[in-house]
Amino acid sequence: MSIFTKIINGEIPSYKVAENDKFYAFLDINPNAKGHTLVVPKKEVNKLFDLDVETYNELMSFSRKIAIAIEKVIPCKRIGMSVIGLEVPHVHVHLIPLQAMEDIQFVKKVKLNSEEFETISKAISSNL
Ligand code: 5GP
Repeated sequence: MSIFTKIINGEIPSYKVAENDKFYAFLDINPNAKGHTLVVPKKEVNKLFDLDVETYNELMSFSRKIAIAIEKVIPCKRIGMSVIGLEVPHVHVHLIPLQAMEDIQFVKKVKLNSEEFETISKAISSNL
């Protein structure tokens, strides 16, 4: 079972942004920028392009809604999207508010306390 499945099942806490029957969105615990969000299909599949096409399309559509909400809440030039998965082998879309190219490069990290995570996740959630 992946760490993200444990998060989806509530066995590990997360700052939830959104959920439906197929997807779960929550804040990345080690964010590149404020508002960095992960969108995960509940179905545990390792690689993005191994998803069935229906789930893939729905993942993109769900991620789009989340990205639009993030952009309303976090001052940024735009929302960047990246799929990597080298650390956690369970498909997840990174949605990252961008000010500069380095924000998408996973080199510069932002430290947030639990109150800030809580405020950001609620703000995005209420703008969906
Ligand atoms: P990737 O697999 O795309 O290379 O990176 C996995 C991402 O998941 C990283 O950005 C990392 O900070 C995030 N991550 C790993 N474990 C947890 C966790 O337990 N909770 C949350 N919220 N994020 C996690």
